[in-house]
Amino acid sequence: MIMLKIAFFDTKPYDQNWFDKINDVHTITYYENRLNSATASLAKGNEVVCAFVNDDISAETIGILQNLGVRLIALRCAGYNNVDMKAAFGKIHVVRVPAYSPYAVAEHAMALLLTLNRKLHRAYNRTRDFNFSLVGLGGIDLYGKTVGIIGTGKIGRVFIDICHGFGMNIIAYDLYPGEDSDIKYVDLNTLFKESDVISLHCPLTDETRHLLDAVAFSHMKNGVIIINTSRGALIDTVALLEALNNGKIGGAGLDVYEEESDFFYQDLSGTIIHDDLLALLVSRPNVLLTSHQGFLTEEALSNIAETTLANIDEFFKNDAIINEICYQCDAGKVEGNCSKKRTGRCF
Ligand code: NAD
Repeated sequence: MIMLKIAFFDTKPYDQNWFDKINDVHTITYYENRLNSATASLAKGNEVVCAFVNDDISAETIGILQNLGVRLIALRCAGYNNVDMKAAFGKIHVVRVPAYSPYAVAEHAMALLLTLNRKLHRAYNRTRDFNFSLVGLGGIDLYGKTVGIIGTGKIGRVFIDICHGFGMNIIAYDLYPGEDSDIKYVDLNTLFKESDVISLHCPLTDETRHLLDAVAFSHMKNGVIIINTSRGALIDTVALLEALNNGKIGGAGLDVYEEESDFFYQDLSGTIIHDDLLALLVSRPNVLLTSHQGFLTEEALSNIAETTLANIDEFFKNDAIINEICYQCDAGKVEGNCSKKRTGRCF
């Protein structure tokens, strides 16, 4: 086994705990700092950087890492919208963890839906204060309601199975509908019109940015519940607030937020939040916000550490790199001058 030096960014205690449990070969230096152009120099002397969802891996950051001799960016997450993939191509290889536990995220999506619908977040606070009033805590039966799933990949499909268990009618939209399933696919407008609950499980791309905007909300049923465990920028937050204000949206369960990188994963309870949209969202009784924690189960964290270390080993053993990605082999397609099909590596 080759011993490598890995600079690990945006470290939290649970990351270090799981990586230290599984790694007995490499030297990992853990930094609490996020990776960006100002902190990239910390990677000096390391062949690998390990990064997470809110690290800013821009062209500038990539340039600095390349000059320092970094050869691999090992993302310990599935999404890679925070990496300038075009800038990385031909310079630094990028690997990710495409699946670590779709159950973790899908179960969190259902937890958001159940909590929001039955107002458990409010009931919890009330009973702690010996307020046993039920006024304002009403919800709906999920049984028989229509849930619209956008994105029927790994997480979307687990969420569909969970919704089946609740006796919900399921409709879905996907840019690449799965032909192997009995999922009922509809066009996006039909999904907007017919759904009582809409749950987002597609990636953030140029096409999906602000997929739910004012126009989309205008097509939806009054009182629809929106669940987003995917990426914040799938929703136009200004339009969401407006739709919450005018009653079009009955509730929003959000594990992600457009501008989350400035706030999430930090204890800011003693500071003033200079983001009025976030403050307004949090102030709404029918908004339930969690801090991008869908992945936070023991199984997911253990799988993340295992796959990330396996990706790193594959790269340095000169093997084909199963989990390498580039801007040309997105969504299973391999195009342009990506050489993955021929050589097992993107370049
Ligand atoms: P996946 O790749 O298995 O599935 C994504 C699905 O979206 C695919 O079926 C794809 O065809 C579809 N899709 C792509 N472009 C689309 C478009 N324009 N419109 C509709 N559908 C489109 O991914 P996954 O593992 O199911 O993860 C889904 C998303 O969940 C990720 O992109 C990531 O953003 C998010 N995620 C969040 C957390 C968390 O902790 N909250 C953890 C992991 C992943």
